[in-house]
Amino acid sequence: MAPTATERAVAELLDQVPGATVEPDALAAAALDRSGARPDGLPAVLVLIRDVVGVQRTLEVAHRHRVPVVPRGAGSGVAGGALAGTGSVVLDLSGLDRILEIDPVDELAVVEAGVITAELDRAAGEHGLRYAPDPASAAISTIGGNVATNAGGMRCVKYGVTRDAVLGLDVVLADGRLISTGRRTVKGVAGLDLTSLFVGSEGALGVVVRATVRLRALPETTLTAAAAYDDVAAAARACVSVARARREPSLLELLDHATLSVVDRAQGTDFATRGRALVVAQAEGPAAADEIAAIAELLAKESTWSERGLDEESSERLVLARRLALPSIERFGRALIEDICVPRSRLVDAFRGVEEIARRTGVDVFTFAHAGDGNLHPIISFDPALAEPPPAVQQAADAIFALAIELGGTVTGEHGIGSLKRAWLAREVGEDSIEVQRSIKAALDPHGLLNPGKAL
Ligand SMILES: Cc1cc2nc3c(=O)[nH]c(=O)nc-3n(C[C@H](O)[C@H](O)[C@H](O)COP(=O)(O)OP(=O)(O)OC[C@H]3O[C@@H](n4cnc5c(N)ncnc54)[C@H](O)[C@@H]3O)c2cc1C
Repeated sequence: MAPTATERAVAELLDQVPGATVEPDALAAAALDRSGARPDGLPAVLVLIRDVVGVQRTLEVAHRHRVPVVPRGAGSGVAGGALAGTGSVVLDLSGLDRILEIDPVDELAVVEAGVITAELDRAAGEHGLRYAPDPASAAISTIGGNVATNAGGMRCVKYGVTRDAVLGLDVVLADGRLISTGRRTVKGVAGLDLTSLFVGSEGALGVVVRATVRLRALPETTLTAAAAYDDVAAAARACVSVARARREPSLLELLDHATLSVVDRAQGTDFATRGRALVVAQAEGPAAADEIAAIAELLAKESTWSERGLDEESSERLVLARRLALPSIERFGRALIEDICVPRSRLVDAFRGVEEIARRTGVDVFTFAHAGDGNLHPIISFDPALAEPPPAVQQAADAIFALAIELGGTVTGEHGIGSLKRAWLAREVGEDSIEVQRSIKAALDPHGLLNPGKAL
């Protein structure tokens, strides 16, 4: 029997592209991300990319044989964006990991897609600079993955999301052509803004191989304040009051009682004894002292406990409680990680709504939030012994998405649509918008080979 198109593509890749492998364990690992979802089978081949030419060659072969390609960074995504199903080619970019340039005068870095986020931040630190977007996964995620998902983090309340840090990209198109977008200047309006188009496109429009990113001055001072409340709505009101007063926190996080309790249970701490919700705020830079004093005053108004001028150790402990929230939840159950974002003015309604959904569906929901951005992470936890989430879990997730849209928000603030939230995209943006998005995809990837079934 004549070999199939996939078999021909695999044979060519094994023959011509260094790093191509069909080793079964490697394929099994490359098929998954951190969403907990499973693809419909195994990919046909994994290519451990070593250089940009390898990306171009792989895409050219896949394009000629019409075989789907799944770009992959570290596989830390939680929306099923890097899941690789039967017969696909996985393009693993984690080996493309050189920091090519850090320019302290232009305050930018040029990096390959596989550079680990925290590694770029650390390298920038040697020049008194930082890479501001700080997903909680920074120690494992790649810049290419961050660009593809438009990742956010705690510092985004002051410095913006990944899109705000990306000046330009090198992208390999579906047919193997390499283009550069954007620039390394502060200003520039030549042509359509393709950089923004590729940021957040979840591997469905092109493969990011290199990024020019903006760096920021490392602040000399960071000050922290915290407050606890007897009700999550009071905590949310306090966060809204910070926005209303036009204060500029560099971090404004909220943890509900369920989250505080599970952190205590996992880490042996006593955060839940302070109240039923906790808000942690930070301010940075030359105006930090004035900012944090004003923020602390606002947070204290409805609080049952508050503290300001926290020393470095206790500040770190509070921020750590936030960082440890997800690992603590995951210690006791399987977690479905949700990621809605609402206008900050609707924060109270969002928290109330999520509480009501948990009550109604009877599922365990732990909510913590980048409150300054209106970005809630309601984490639905269920028995890890179950092969599939029980129906109530999906009902709760759907109700949370519906709530986000009803409040004028979005079903995903920073994790992406991936394969898990596709059904909700049209409900959020409308059929005409989907149509426009699909025609853009068709212009760049006419055969629909780049990460099919994801994002759009
Ligand atoms: C513990 C934990 C905490 C997290 N915290 C945060 C958080 O605070 N904020 C946040 O935003 N996310 C968070 N995430 C989610 C995840 O880390 C981010 O989405 C991250 O940006 C994914 O990077 P990655 O390199 O792992 O990409 P992957 O998971 O490998 O891929 C993600 C998507 O990007 C595409 N892709 C990857 N690389 C490229 C490339 N070079 N070119 C084109 N497409 C590409 C993939 O096809 C896929 O669609 C967290 C995840 C975990 C497990």
